[in-house]
Amino acid sequence: MSRTYDVIVVGAGSVGIPAAWAMARSGLKVLVLDRFASPGQGSNKSAIGGIRATHSEPAKIRIGLRSLEIASTWEETYGDDIEWSTGGYSFVAVSPREEKILKDLLAVQQASGLDIAWYDADGLLRIVPALNREGLIGGTYSPGDGHCSPLLFCHAIYDRARTAGAEFRFHEAVTGIDARGGRVRGLTTDKATYAAQIVLNAGGGWASEIGAMVGLDHPVQPDSHEGGITEPVAPFLGPMVVDISPAPGSANYYFFQHATGQVVFCITPRPVIPGFDRDATSGFLPMVSRRMVRLMPRLANLRVRRTWRGLYPMSPDGAPIVGWARETEGYLMAIGLCGQGFMLGPGLGELLDRVVRDDLTDEDRSILDELSPYRPFEGQAALK
Ligand SMILES: Cc1cc2nc3c(=O)[nH]c(=O)nc-3n(C[C@H](O)[C@H](O)[C@H](O)COP(=O)(O)OP(=O)(O)OC[C@H]3O[C@@H](n4cnc5c(N)ncnc54)[C@H](O)[C@@H]3O)c2cc1C
Repeated sequence: MSRTYDVIVVGAGSVGIPAAWAMARSGLKVLVLDRFASPGQGSNKSAIGGIRATHSEPAKIRIGLRSLEIASTWEETYGDDIEWSTGGYSFVAVSPREEKILKDLLAVQQASGLDIAWYDADGLLRIVPALNREGLIGGTYSPGDGHCSPLLFCHAIYDRARTAGAEFRFHEAVTGIDARGGRVRGLTTDKATYAAQIVLNAGGGWASEIGAMVGLDHPVQPDSHEGGITEPVAPFLGPMVVDISPAPGSANYYFFQHATGQVVFCITPRPVIPGFDRDATSGFLPMVSRRMVRLMPRLANLRVRRTWRGLYPMSPDGAPIVGWARETEGYLMAIGLCGQGFMLGPGLGELLDRVVRDDLTDEDRSILDELSPYRPFEGQAALK
């Protein structure tokens, strides 16, 4: 068996799998390696499944629009049910602080051509009738956004990638990258050695460990976030509801009702919980459920079936880090996806394929400028 590839992707997650699929479709010989037992066992399986284009930074908007197109047309194009629902996203304002943040962002989003509008409390209640009228100022609604099952979508893309010729090896940890003479020549795992002139780091929360293998110090730090899922109930909620108001212990939370009836939710802890801990806590559920029931009182009667904890691979400014290393020829990064790797992965995968084949459009070039590993990392992406 040949152990020489055009591209080796480190990480079979939200980014690595779609990237491998796009590259294999283009005729490249691709190997994907992951230390876990099957696809999506890093952060991908922790995502609750939201996919939106309504960001505020042009690069994320463009990539998000393409991901939305791929996800929302998946079933009619490829036949797999990924439990997609075009339910939209609604960011709610329960204090003047959120109203200002959301209205300021709206101006940028509408200028970028996104389908999003502001609704006062009565208008928003017509879209999300279950919201608590008390204290609600209003919010935004973007009807074209949606959600699907991270497990089903990840596996559907994985199946396509394999059909297109990408090879996957699981239970195999990358332990070293051969970059003698300043150029990638291959890599070593705990099981074998492979040759390739291009290595893509799609290592999620573990991306910095991979960077260290070529002597680079990537500014990506994982932190822990928790999610949960309830029993299924009759449909009552269309959009993903996002509440960005801070409260003791958390910066924001978001939830939606899945196509199969369950309410899926997660919270962003404050202070941040840095590190690789993926063990669920007992503190998360009481904290998030209090917040959710205050915003949507009818949730009080729902029983929670399961909670979990996963990692956001955070970059310093909240935007992904994408591009070639200047120091090591053939070393490509798609890291620091923060809380948006699931929604950006499919569009980003296609972009990475064009990067590898040096077939960039003008729009690609401006996206890559914005996400450059060598940008100054000043400021903070909104809604990261
Ligand atoms: C509770 C929660 C809810 C979330 N909800 C959403 C959401 O609704 N929408 C959204 O877009 N995002 C969401 N996210 C964020 C999303 O899960 C991440 O941004 C995304 O999964 C990151 O993708 P990735 O490909 O960079 O990393 P991963 O999916 O983690 O993939 C990286 C892979 O690299 C592998 N790897 C790393 N190092 C090595 C090595 N040395 N050798 C072999 N393999 C290696 C890992 O095993 C892993 O499988 C959520 C996250 C959490 C925790």
